[in-house]
Order: sequence, then C-alpha cells, then structure tokens
Amino acid sequence: MPDTATSSTLVRGACPHDCPDTCALLTQVENGVAVKVSGNPAHRHTDGVLCAKVSKYTERTYHPERLLHPLRRVGPKGSGQFERISWDEALREIAARLGSIAQRNPEAILPYSYAGTMGLVQGEAMAGRFFHRLGASLLERTICAAAGGAGLTHTLGGKLGMRVEFFAEAKLILIWGSNSIGSNLHFWRLAQEAKRRGAKLVCIDPRRSETAEKCHVHLALRPGTDAALALALMHELIRHDWLDHDYIEHHTVGWAALRERALQWPPERAAEVCGLAVQQIRDLAHDYGQCLVRGEPAAIRLNYGMQRVHGGGNAARAVACLPALIGAWRHRAGGVLLSSSGAFPTRHAALQRPDLLGPRRPRLLNMSTIGDILQHPGDTAWGPKVEALLVYNSNPVAVAPESGAVVRGFARDDLFTVVLEHFMTDTADYADIVLPATTQLEHWDIHTSYGHTDVLLNRPAIAPLGEARSNTQIFRDLAQAMGFDDPCFADSDETLCRTAFDGVLDFEVLLRDGFASLPLPEAPFAQGHFPTPSGRCEFYSVALQRSQGDGLPDHVPNHETAGSDARYPLAMISPPARNFLNSTFVNVRSLRNIEGEPVLEMHASDATARGLRDGQTVRVFNDRGSYHCVLRINGRAREGVVNSLGIWWRKLGLNGTNVNELTSQKLTDLGHGPVFYDCLVEVSAA
Ligand code: SF4
Repeated sequence: MPDTATSSTLVRGACPHDCPDTCALLTQVENGVAVKVSGNPAHRHTDGVLCAKVSKYTERTYHPERLLHPLRRVGPKGSGQFERISWDEALREIAARLGSIAQRNPEAILPYSYAGTMGLVQGEAMAGRFFHRLGASLLERTICAAAGGAGLTHTLGGKLGMRVEFFAEAKLILIWGSNSIGSNLHFWRLAQEAKRRGAKLVCIDPRRSETAEKCHVHLALRPGTDAALALALMHELIRHDWLDHDYIEHHTVGWAALRERALQWPPERAAEVCGLAVQQIRDLAHDYGQCLVRGEPAAIRLNYGMQRVHGGGNAARAVACLPALIGAWRHRAGGVLLSSSGAFPTRHAALQRPDLLGPRRPRLLNMSTIGDILQHPGDTAWGPKVEALLVYNSNPVAVAPESGAVVRGFARDDLFTVVLEHFMTDTADYADIVLPATTQLEHWDIHTSYGHTDVLLNRPAIAPLGEARSNTQIFRDLAQAMGFDDPCFADSDETLCRTAFDGVLDFEVLLRDGFASLPLPEAPFAQGHFPTPSGRCEFYSVALQRSQGDGLPDHVPNHETAGSDARYPLAMISPPARNFLNSTFVNVRSLRNIEGEPVLEMHASDATARGLRDGQTVRVFNDRGSYHCVLRINGRAREGVVNSLGIWWRKLGLNGTNVNELTSQKLTDLGHGPVFYDCLVEVSAA
C-alpha cells in the first residue's frame, strides 16, 4: 500500500486534473485527516492560488458517496444496482474473465482511460505494463488534444512553445479559443499583469466568455473558422509588408507557397466565412503587424477549444505559422503556446514497458469512437469484437461523443466491464465490477504540465479511505491474479516516480520542494532550431503533402457547416462550465449548486425567432438525440451559435442525458480527434 506521510502536517502535492496550470498543492493534515488543500506559494506558477474547484478537494475526497469497497453489479446494466464484494472475489472474477478471453484473443480486451488524473504513475505506468503484458488492444488516446497537437507538431516540431511566465511581458496577447479565467486561471493572472503594463488583450472565441468580456477586443467568430481568420491575418501582413523577412528566410520553409495560399484569403472572404466584420480582421492584423514595426513582443495563447472541429489540426497549424511571419519568436514574450507537454523528457517506455508486448502488435482503437467500437461485431479486417473493457481515469458514458451510441455499447450484456472510480459515475453504472480507487491525496504520483515546464511530485497526504487502492496497486494485484510474475510488477509507486525522470532531474529536489523546473531556453526559437524534419518552422510539410495531399495549412470546413441543413440551423459548442472540469466535480454539491442546472446560452434574436424566453427549459436536438437544459439569454452566445455548458453527468441532468447526446463520432483532419464543437442542432421548448 502506498506510503503515508506521517512526519508533517503540510504535505506537498500536485493537482491531478486536466488543466494546463498543474498547480502545486499543500495539504494540511490533522490527525490523519486532510482538512485543507491550498496552493503552494513557493511554486511560482501556482503562486499560492488554486481554482475554486480544487479548493474543494477535501469535500470531494470525503464525499459521503465516495466508493470505499469493491462492488459487483446485481441489476440490469445502467441501473446502478450493486452488491459489496471483497477484493479477493473481485480480483478472482476479473482475472478469470480476462484470462478466458485472452486465451482466445487478448485483443478482445480494451483499456479505456484518459486524463482523470494527469499523473504519469497513476495514469499509464502500471496500467501500461499490465495491458502490454496481456497483449490487449491499444487505445488511441485522442479525445482532447490530438488535432491541435498534430497541427503544432507538423509546424513547430512538437508540442512546444513560449514559456508561459513571459506572457506578462507581451504587448499584445491573442487569447485564442480559451476561456482562461475558467480553464487556465494562472495564465490569466499573467495576462492581467501584461494588461496593467499596457498590453492589449484580444479574445478570439465564438462565446463571449468571462475572459472575452475582460479583454479589450473580442472576435466572436463562428466555430470552425479559425484557420480562415489566421489566413486572412497573413493576407494583411503580406499586403502591408509587416513581415520579418530575415526570420522567414532563415528559419521557415514553404514561404512562397504559403504566401500564395494566404493571398487567396482577403479579409472580405474570411469575414464571410467567420461571421466577422472585415474591419475587425483588418484591425487585428494591424495590431499584430505593429508589434513587428515597434519591435514589441506579440504572444498567442492558443487553447484546445478551437481544434474540436473537422479542420482543427489545420487551424492550429495556421495559427502556429503566425509568429514566424513577424519574427515574434525573437522575443521571449513572443510566439505561441498551445501546449508545453513536448518539452518534458519523460521516460514513458521505462514506465509503461511496451517491450512486454514482445513481437505482438495489437490493433489501435480510437477512444473518440468508443460508441461504434463497442457495437462493432468484429471481423477479419477489424479484429475481434470487444468482449472486455477496463475503464480508469475516465467517464466515457458522459464524456465521449454521441453518447446514445456509447450507452448502447456499454449496455451490451455480453460485454464484461470493469471500472476503477471514486464515485458511481454514469460509466460505473454500466460496470460488472467497480473497484474503488484512491484520490490524489492518498497516493504517490509525478506530473508534467501542458501549460508550464515544471515537474511536480505528489506525495500521499492521508491513508487510502475505506478499502480504496491506487490504480497502480489494482493493476499490480490484477497482474498477480493473472499469474504475471515479471519483476516490473513489483515496482513501488515511489520507484515509478523516480523512474519517470531518472538521469534527467534530481529526485531529491522533488522530494524536498515538490517541484523542479526543466532547464530550458527563455526564447526557444529565437534562432530557429525547430525540431521539425527541416529544422525550420514548417509552413509547408512534406509529411502532410504525402498523407493529406496538401502540405500547407488551409481552412477545412466543418463536417456540419452552418447553413448546410435547414432542419438544424444552429451551431452548438459545449465549453466547460466554470465549476466543472470535464465531468469531474459535477457531484460535488457546493460546486453544482453554483452551476445550478444544465444551461444553454442563446442569442436574443435566435430565441425570439423560436418564441423562447430566458429561464425556460428547452430541448436541444438533432438526428443523434435530444438534451434538456435551461435557456439563458445572457449575451454570451453569438447569433446562430448556442453554447451548451458541460459536462454534466447524465443522471444529474434534466432528462437523463447530457450534451454529448448530440455530438458526433466524426473525426478531425489531423490526429483523429473528436469534433465536439462541430455540431448542428435545433432548439424548441421542452
Ligand atoms: S484545476 Fe487547474 S487551476 Fe485548478 S488547482 Fe488544478 S491545476 Fe490549478
């Protein structure tokens, strides 16, 4: 069992959640009970401040509905009827079922996990070893960031960018596809500092979010049109010769071709596509170009909202080209940041041990299409029907797209499902066996970040509650029950933490301080040296030319383009409700009370056209399903677009569904990601 800190009442840890800020935590423990979780003031990115969600972490940890012992389903799938069983019974039953399936074909077993914890150890370390040893199907983990990550990698060479701390020195900040106040709070503090020093803040987001209303300028473009806007900005930079010709010549590739492409996108054309005024685009290009003229840093904080559409990869790529055009990378406060996760030299293979596969090469199944996967009958080309599913660090029945299809898959009587969880989520309701997992306060872990470049160590602050076990311990126990005697299954959690950056970072520093910074340059691409195949910023990508037939970024229209279906005239996006994080925290009463009920934001003219009024319950629907929520006409939605704030648990919503009842399983242009914000709907009174 995990070690428990006993010598200190203040235990250093890390926030485990899917958030770019990766805060350093301090947990105050009294008589073995965690009484308060706060931000570590010694960690410069956290600066002693946590968001409202994680400030409630003790409420979540000691929640009266916390799962404290293993359960076996006794009612129909989805009914939530379970009986208590012992760990021995649970492990025996799981091992027997998996063993018999594996004898026929281990690829009929599928792990399903994502960022319920971002920890490297409780994430895929021991779990990876277990599934590799088993020879199970591999999961293509695409559900959040795959399209943008691919776009960035094809342009800059990796998930790399500006160091977040230098945004405070920028003179122009484009906050693109992000409600930073809700989802990137510590970046927002830096943006405010920049604002106090005279920086202009521009928000580019279909929704007039809390962040948008605090910026100097808000461009409420249509969902899925970001690449068109970026190309029009390039057009204007070219037309006015706001270009750093020296930087372009020495540190980029494909300029002549990109120039041709951008010249096809005058602001008038982009304005039509984006639903913006021509002057808004011209003004933004002027602001961006003037940073070059004045020698001032221009910074772009791109976030993942904008890449959840068909053309999400191309959009991220187009935006990532912009800094090179004006030589913004020359400044430490210039460039773009979508993700910093590629900066970490994590020893993933040492943690997850893909070598345990031996010569086997299991198929790869995309988590964003889990609904279709679970309903696939299996065939020679696709492989065997999925017979067993092990879910950890995820709640797919709530968060995966097209949840009607997902539910039909999970409801299969012949599917054996095991769920590792803290609570009886929508997914746990469909499990055959539920295993109680520890929270971040009860186990070891080590964390990288996708918003800064520090490594954080999480020590257990309290003993596991009830009979809860860490994910690592559960997979160790399962390995033993399956007869896997490889020595790697004996590694302790602390050993796994040490393994993650062995030879790269001094673990003693992590033990002492709880965090350590990577030694990185302040301005990563000031002299070029992009880790791309050409060593330059790749406006043109040979790899994309080969795989996609187009080596340049372009505007790729949505699968469900506005105006393409008269039955569903409204585009819907589903940004996170401020007090939830994906589907985590929805069952924390104090946070749910703030959110109230599932909300749909609509423009006043769209509401009037449908005879709808603020506060009434409405039905949002398309061919995939329908979802009930409360209408808000609050100025946050632009005309033609509705914002459905997520992600509610289905069973805590108004009609037993959530917004993913409406989203589709179609995929992005690059990275095989989901298209949550590429979705047409209609709305009527419920
Ligand atoms: S969710 Fe984000 S802002 Fe909140 S504590 Fe965790 S890392 Fe910090």
